[in-house]
Amino acid sequence: MPELPEVEVTRLSFADRIAGARVTAVRLGKPLRWPLGVPAERIVERTVGAVSRRGKYLWLPLDDGGLLMHLGMSGSLSFASVAAQPGPHDHFDLVTARGTLRLTDPRRFGAVVWSPSLDAGAAGRLLAGLGLEPFDERFDGAWLHAALRGRRVAVKAALLGGDIVVGAGNIYACEALFQAGIDPRTRSDRLSRARCHSLAQAVRDTLARAVETGGSTLRDFRDAHGIAGRFQLHARVYGREGQACLRCGTTVRRIVQGQRSTFFCPGCQRR
Ligand SMILES: [Zn+2]
Repeated sequence: MPELPEVEVTRLSFADRIAGARVTAVRLGKPLRWPLGVPAERIVERTVGAVSRRGKYLWLPLDDGGLLMHLGMSGSLSFASVAAQPGPHDHFDLVTARGTLRLTDPRRFGAVVWSPSLDAGAAGRLLAGLGLEPFDERFDGAWLHAALRGRRVAVKAALLGGDIVVGAGNIYACEALFQAGIDPRTRSDRLSRARCHSLAQAVRDTLARAVETGGSTLRDFRDAHGIAGRFQLHARVYGREGQACLRCGTTVRRIVQGQRSTFFCPGCQRR
């Protein structure tokens, strides 16, 4: 499943090239998770603005309104100056004067939805419950401490929820907790302000590293799904069950929390 870093690298791969382009045609394939919400013709002749990201959603402004896009479980976006004939898994083409933005999505949990703005309509509803962006300057130790204070769940579950901070998916949450030296089973409301400070920093560092890992291969960018795989090659704790901790040598453990694998070092991650 594409996570925040994959979506950000996807954005970086085409945002500059599509900005200012006029839409010349829209092609719809099979139905996606939600309907477009307007007749496709209404999008034609509009001009694409600066593409932004919120959580795992991309926003393509188109004059008075825009398209909110989500890659779902298996989606990927490509932008090519000359698009090939659409294949069986290509379900949305935004054809512009500069090239075609194409959503390829075999499982069709992805979506392209029209919205009058980011704060209203479909986008307003879909983005309403999202936590802060990890790179938002408001996301710091004090803020995280206040957000976790009322929660009795394990800190890893609180991170995965996405309603405090977005982007800390399973791999990234494990890595951030390792960097911060926090046992993933620690109850959220037991974390001191100082440890929340370390954790906020670790979440930012981890996601920045993942975007860099993806960004370093941007030139021959083909498939956003490869980023998590490449990032895993550099993971310090994720996927390392039974191996020696890189920091203290203790054997890395795997447990299951909320039906997801958690990897952690019992030596240097404390409750
Ligand atoms: Zn360790």
